[in-house]
Amino acid sequence: MTFETFDLDPLVLDSLRDMGYEKPTPVQEKSIPLVIEGKDLIALAETGSGKTAACAIPVCHKVDTSDSHIQALIVVPTRELALQYATESQKIGREKGVKVFAILGGEDMDLQRAKLKGGVHVLVATPGRLIDFIYARAINLTRVETLILDEADQMLGMGFYEDLEFIMGCLIQEHQTMLFSATMPQEIKKIAENHMKNPVELSLIGGRPAPTQLSHKLVLCRDNQAKLSQLAVLLKELNPGQCLIFTNSRREVESLCRDLKKKFSAVDFLHGGLEQGVRSIITGKFLRGKIRFLVATDVAARGLDFSGVTHVVNFHFPREQETYMHRAGRTGRSGRKGTCVTLVTRRDLKTVDQIFKKLKQKPEWIGKSF
Ligand code: AMP
Repeated sequence: MTFETFDLDPLVLDSLRDMGYEKPTPVQEKSIPLVIEGKDLIALAETGSGKTAACAIPVCHKVDTSDSHIQALIVVPTRELALQYATESQKIGREKGVKVFAILGGEDMDLQRAKLKGGVHVLVATPGRLIDFIYARAINLTRVETLILDEADQMLGMGFYEDLEFIMGCLIQEHQTMLFSATMPQEIKKIAENHMKNPVELSLIGGRPAPTQLSHKLVLCRDNQAKLSQLAVLLKELNPGQCLIFTNSRREVESLCRDLKKKFSAVDFLHGGLEQGVRSIITGKFLRGKIRFLVATDVAARGLDFSGVTHVVNFHFPREQETYMHRAGRTGRSGRKGTCVTLVTRRDLKTVDQIFKKLKQKPEWIGKSF
């Protein structure tokens, strides 16, 4: 199957060609025709599957550039993911002249307001800032034809249930809704019942084995104190292109970053406690390869496409099994090879066993055991 099969706007096809996208990914194959048809859609989908373009392609195809109103609204949990959607949509809509804009918390509202006045076709937003604009009557959503909610379960986990209900309640005109989520908790089903019309349910992950391009390695450490020196040795041995190192708290992120800076260059950190502007700068630098080692909390674990990441290191074992997959999924993307290395102590062994049974993967133990 090729993109021509979908009868897309020729200008969108031109952009896809410029981007080097030759054929649709399986997620795109399934979802693009449904979106073009105008169906409501609930999809279980994982990141790295081409989900961003699966939304952006039909959205750009549908936009009427002679109308300067917002025609598609994409709501996502984090500013990083918002920027990813905005960039991808901009590229896909470039030849057609689709105007894309992201309104993000922490940035100057007056500037954002001015930009909106100039005409925007596709708006990407995080829930909080979007609601600020709705309350300030600074945004016109009456012409929105497509609403996309991505990482819906994460938004619910962040306490955005009422905000999502509110946003969806604001779109009173006929429109289409697409909801993407990695899991389907009860609240999502409730949202779907309240706001969607006979949604088509697609499982774009069900039963699929984890990507084989990703290898899982484990290092057994005596205790948490021993981890730092083992990490330094490990990073020298692995010699990663770019590496994301996860810890479980903001405090640990900062202290680990300080320690690594003594031994390596191009080290920085990212967590949700940083000012929004700083977070964008760090994410941008990492995407451009200016940062080699990024120490982060799970703010960097989901949704983002850091295609240059060759290694993910779990300095601490994630608190939830699901988080392991999200973290590991930051590498080995789009068919590239990736390695996820986890530093574990004996206390983690039971959880480790459970996770890998679930993943149907055999991790490799590396390094010295104690
Ligand atoms: P996502 O799951 O949206 O984070 O996308 C993962 C990666 O796949 C991104 O780097 C995209 O640029 C890339 N991608 C998406 N769709 C295609 C396609 N049809 N052909 C080639 N690369 C793609």
